[in-house]
Amino acid sequence: HGSFGAVYFVSKCIRTVYKVFENVAQKYDVMNDAMSLGIHRLWKDALMHLMSPTPGTLLLDVAGGTGDISFRFLDYIRSRQDREARRDTLSRQSASWQEITEAYQPGQSDTQGGVQAVVCDINKEMLKVGRQRAADRGYGTGLSWVVGNAEELPFDNDKFDFYTIAFGIRNVTHIDQALQEAHRVLKPGGRFLCLEFSRVSNPLLSRVYDAYSFQLIPVLGEVIAGDWKSYQYLVESIRRFPDQEEFKAMIEDAGFFKVQFHNLTGGVVSIHSGFKL
Ligand code: SAM
Repeated sequence: HGSFGAVYFVSKCIRTVYKVFENVAQKYDVMNDAMSLGIHRLWKDALMHLMSPTPGTLLLDVAGGTGDISFRFLDYIRSRQDREARRDTLSRQSASWQEITEAYQPGQSDTQGGVQAVVCDINKEMLKVGRQRAADRGYGTGLSWVVGNAEELPFDNDKFDFYTIAFGIRNVTHIDQALQEAHRVLKPGGRFLCLEFSRVSNPLLSRVYDAYSFQLIPVLGEVIAGDWKSYQYLVESIRRFPDQEEFKAMIEDAGFFKVQFHNLTGGVVSIHSGFKL
């Protein structure tokens, strides 16, 4: 009876997680902006800044949903490539006037074919919305979209330079397994980066934040997505997630080195990162 109960419980958890995002896939991006007052964009930019990827590196974005992190990754690399190309041209003594003028043109298009980022998510509806967004915004060949579970990734060992998971690990049933999988698929020297809700330590901010999330978020969920329960679940899952230090220890247990975290917005969110040796 015991094991049957456990299996039932686990499958119910998985089904609940799946349904939450199936319901909201379409409205997901609107909700993100509404609930975080647009601040999630700054948090994602902070992640990219910390990562500072260089051209030619390969990203695996797990729980990648509608592709936000991967789009930013491509943008970051593109603007870096542009800057470098311009600097090279301008620093050459022999550069002609035409080359110099061209180097000053902003936003050169991507010259690299091939995949630069793989977006992996358990929910195909989220990926579908993401793929459409990618097409609309002209991110053609740089991305690949793969259905997969963070706990059992459908990729070879030692494959990626970066592994990101943004607002995703909280929903994973076996976090330790997901961390081990992250370690497995990264190349030696590769970096793990996780953006997730965390603990606010300032008592005043903490009170404001509690009031906001417990009382306002489910209401916003009901008004915008017609779905009170899913958003109540999201708030509860944030409270259940380990705090900064506990999560850091879990990442170390999975075999990562130089694990650190950076708090954003007073710890509402934190970025944990570590390296595979
Ligand atoms: N990373 C995106 C972002 O920041 O906009 C999406 C985050 S969204 C809050 C969480 C995503 O995690 C959902 O798309 C959900 O389908 C996915 N997810 C939940 N459990 C997962 C699992 N075990 N493996 C892979 N993805 C999972």
